Amino acid sequence: MAECIFCKIAEKEIPSNVVYEDEQIVCFHDLEPQAPVHVLIIPKKHMASLDEVSEEDQALLGHLMVKVRDIAESLGLENGYRLVNNCGEDGFQSVKHVHFHLLGKRKMTWPPG
Ligand code: C5P
Repeated sequence: MAECIFCKIAEKEIPSNVVYEDEQIVCFHDLEPQAPVHVLIIPKKHMASLDEVSEEDQALLGHLMVKVRDIAESLGLENGYRLVNNCGEDGFQSVKHVHFHLLGKRKMTWPPG
């Protein structure tokens, strides 16, 4: 999608600090980290939010979820981590391209804000 910042990151039109990449997904460091480790994992395919995914995205999103463990391991998150998806206005989603925040290396609290 032409004006989507995460599509531009996926297509390397905008530089990012990439942690992991394959044909379907990219993981890169968040520009405003909220924890000592804070990366974003995105599908390369544009999908605006989890509210807008379709059945045909199952394999892609399943692939992304399975890679979380490997990415977490590569970042040294052996003590645990938090995986977050913000969806829509109430969910505080600011970038309209599905992304999962992977946060770690600090003790998280509950409930989230
Ligand atoms: O879930 P939400 O949409 O609120 O989060 C978007 C995230 O994308 C923010 O954590 C922000 O720091 C990050 N971001 C980034 N690089 C950009 C634009 C946003 O890391 N160029």
